[in-house]
Amino acid sequence: MNAILVTGGAGFIGSHLVRHLLRERPGRVVVLDSLTVAANLADLADLTGDDRYAFVRGDIGDRDLLRRMFAEYAFDAVVNLAAESYVERSITDPEIFVSTNVVGTQALLDAARESWRLKPNEAHEVQYRHGVRFVQVSAAEVYGDLPPNDGFDENAALAPTTPYAASKAGADLLVQAYHHAFGLPVNIVRCSINYGSHQFPEKLMPKVIDYWSTRRRIPVYGDGGQIRDWLHIDDSCRAIDAVLDQGVDGETYNVGGDSEYTNLAVIEAVLGRLGAPLEAAEHVRDRPGHAQRVVLDSSKIKSELGWAPTRSLEDGIDATVSWYLSNPEWVRLVATGAYRESNRSLG
Ligand code: NAD
Repeated sequence: MNAILVTGGAGFIGSHLVRHLLRERPGRVVVLDSLTVAANLADLADLTGDDRYAFVRGDIGDRDLLRRMFAEYAFDAVVNLAAESYVERSITDPEIFVSTNVVGTQALLDAARESWRLKPNEAHEVQYRHGVRFVQVSAAEVYGDLPPNDGFDENAALAPTTPYAASKAGADLLVQAYHHAFGLPVNIVRCSINYGSHQFPEKLMPKVIDYWSTRRRIPVYGDGGQIRDWLHIDDSCRAIDAVLDQGVDGETYNVGGDSEYTNLAVIEAVLGRLGAPLEAAEHVRDRPGHAQRVVLDSSKIKSELGWAPTRSLEDGIDATVSWYLSNPEWVRLVATGAYRESNRSLG
């Protein structure tokens, strides 16, 4: 592939994926990101000057910008990571989740379809440039709550329990519809909960570290018994890359970490690694729509594409906590909000 567009590349998964792609592939990687509060462009700053990397500040819903970018860079692939991703914010302000995650994804699908099709005037016999691919990165939450001792496979019904999950499910349905109606070469990658370095403290592991280091009590929602399937960011990037390379047209792949733990167990493990007592955490009222168990069955990507997770949760927590403890300046810039200033100057 000569050029890959990574939308949302200044976010947590995106910044890791951009590095992974530049390391593993010969082609160009172009980031499109509107730099919301979830972005940290400083995480990509050292790539400036690399002629295989480019950054464009803009919105995935900006159709004129997309048209210009597809014309300029002749993308072979799109990985759509751009999204409003903070579940709690979707409870208080759902509208932006629909406009970015659903309407924005549609604009991107349209741009890919227009740019890649070879016979623009023959609606019933559309062909696309050889080798192009649109990869939508989705989330396990689209399946909703799962009964014990079971794992969602790709055929499970979509039953989201939050506006965030509903907006991701809506985008997935659009991606599938563009494949069925227009033959667009697409894949959907549904990841379970990601963790690793460079993640903002809105997410569980960095939140525990942040609260402990500032001597605040760590909130545990409800009884902390919500079960998630923890996926290290390195394994997540490898899975997206495997789908880019070998994904079968139109197929969806679930990607879980084979690490099923309750939130409370993860909090205790992180506190243990920090040498902090369990009393540093306190139970608070659960948040609305909090699914009890979200676990994926990843047999399909394992058997068909040869991917498997490589990091255990224990090893992943150890590496993640070490990274946060070794990077106090990164933590400070994020905690004080100063990163937004650097987003303005860098972007
Ligand atoms: P993130 O919030 O860290 O990053 C999202 C990025 O998208 C940010 O850089 C933001 O500026 C950008 N963005 C937001 N709206 C945009 C718009 N309209 N136009 C262009 N850019 C925009 O999210 P993340 O954790 O890196 O997740 C990336 C994707 O993976 C999301 O689609 C998310 O739903 C999905 N996902 C995340 C997880 C996880 O655990 N983090 C798990 C499964 C799926």
